[in-house]
Amino acid sequence: MAKATKVILKPGKEQSLLRFHPWIFSGAIQKIDGSPQEGDIVEVTGSNNDFLAVGHYQVGSIAVRVLSFVPCTRDQKFYNEKINLAYRLRVAIGLAESGHTNAYRLIHGEGDNLPGLIVDFYNGTAVVQMHSVGMFCDRKMIETALKEVYGSSLKAIYNKSEGTLPYKAGLEPENSYVYGRPESKEAMENGLLFHADWEKGQKTGFFVDQRDNRSLLERFSKNRSVLNMFCYTGGFSFYAMRGGAAQVHSVDSSERAIELTKTNVELNFPADPRHQAFAMDAFKYLEKAGSNYDLIILDPPAFAKHQNVLNNAIKGYRRLNAKAFEVIRPGGILFTFSCSQVVTKEMFRTMVFSAAAKAGRQVSILHQMSQPADHPVNIYHPEGEYLKGLVLHVV
Ligand code: SAH
Repeated sequence: MAKATKVILKPGKEQSLLRFHPWIFSGAIQKIDGSPQEGDIVEVTGSNNDFLAVGHYQVGSIAVRVLSFVPCTRDQKFYNEKINLAYRLRVAIGLAESGHTNAYRLIHGEGDNLPGLIVDFYNGTAVVQMHSVGMFCDRKMIETALKEVYGSSLKAIYNKSEGTLPYKAGLEPENSYVYGRPESKEAMENGLLFHADWEKGQKTGFFVDQRDNRSLLERFSKNRSVLNMFCYTGGFSFYAMRGGAAQVHSVDSSERAIELTKTNVELNFPADPRHQAFAMDAFKYLEKAGSNYDLIILDPPAFAKHQNVLNNAIKGYRRLNAKAFEVIRPGGILFTFSCSQVVTKEMFRTMVFSAAAKAGRQVSILHQMSQPADHPVNIYHPEGEYLKGLVLHVV
């Protein structure tokens, strides 16, 4: 049962909650009635004592993450309903229960009205990442709800919250299977196979957020000479190969990523001489690349994780993009991305504009890309929109 701890806001601070923003910053709090532990459920009221929301309490700058704007109890039924709703959405958008894709995001935090929770599904294994103490405290209910929603198609649950929970909370979670064991670590995206390494890989093991953009790339690939920069697991590479690319070069500074890319390309196109992979720094590679490519993908890691490093990050993106503009063949296609949440769509476009101008190329925008429908953006929480990209024609 929810405790009756109340968080009372300062006068005027209820505005963002009335517009359904799901975070309450510690500075907005007037007083706390009771002494909640981290992860406890609290009721939030305005200075006039009117009910506003129910959420998970946490010590830190975000003091409450809202679970509901109507009075409710956080219990098994609550999680069953929320997770079922998210699942039904993934069915509706053609992901869950599809014959050609069995890897997708089931829960995208605020976008699925479950702030602090990420769940990716890979062919029978649910990989769970908790970013808030409250979600971690509720993990048993979340696991039960996942089993309830998936039934026998759920073979394993892997909790990977070691690196995502606030260190100071002292929860010391260990990444581990909390239910079953995977039958296979191979999953499928639009009919292409890949090995998902959620135990050792980055994030939950594979970047499912690029699925739609990889499909778009496939359509541009015919007879092109492709450079997949920052390839990680090689997603863009094997789509380009299916699209009929003449050759595909995959580059990543991590040896492990190059191994994963080779494994994944091999799974789909065994012994195909069109593919080669190089463990090398992207900037160094572009420096010596010459004009060998007419389709380049730039999907770097988030250069800016915080507002205070934004300027340097923009400079880094500009340098990278300018280099690609310099080397790409006339008539080439550039797929360029940023997954930094603090870099807005407008900043990104301005950066690409100045990189193109620096390289002195004529450039047109063909497509504006973003994150797919299994990474929904809560309209009241625009911070959830992080992935942006452009498909450019370079003359
Ligand atoms: N495009 C990938 C995801 C990229 S993640 C996909 O579709 O799944 C970012 C990748 O950039 C990581 O694999 C990381 O190892 C690599 N990376 C980071 N810094 C790099 C650098 N300076 N040069 C080359 N690769 C780098």
